[in-house]
Amino acid sequence: MTPNFRKLQQLRERIPSFACVPGCHDCCGPVTASTEEMSRLPRLDDAVRDAALAELACPHLGEHGCTVYGERPLICRLFGTTPRLACPRGMAPDRMIDARTEREIHIFLVQTRQVLV
Ligand code: SF4
Ligand code: SF4
Repeated sequence: MTPNFRKLQQLRERIPSFACVPGCHDCCGPVTASTEEMSRLPRLDDAVRDAALAELACPHLGEHGCTVYGERPLICRLFGTTPRLACPRGMAPDRMIDARTEREIHIFLVQTRQVLV
């Protein structure tokens, strides 16, 4: 396991989880991910990615929601857990993410090469 992936795993575990409005995917859209995350996501045809991007959608959003939920990028996991990325439907964990973890996530995002999923 690379140091970046180890860090990624640690950050994933420190992000609080919460239940979304059933069937909602309002916050899904074009997102970026690190090389480590990309290597765990299925490769998609350029045509599929281009079509999703043209609609400002995420290419991994399927009819029944996120098709890569277990490997969704860090930014998807962070959404809704901080007032800076608040859920527009008012959903949130019992306790929002702690400031240190949020700061470490932003450092990880800046220090890793991010590409569009
Ligand atoms: S975080 Fe909010 S907007 Fe995003 S999927 Fe969950 S309920 Fe919907
Ligand atoms: S990876 Fe999944 S959770 Fe993230 S934007 Fe795409 S569909 Fe939504």
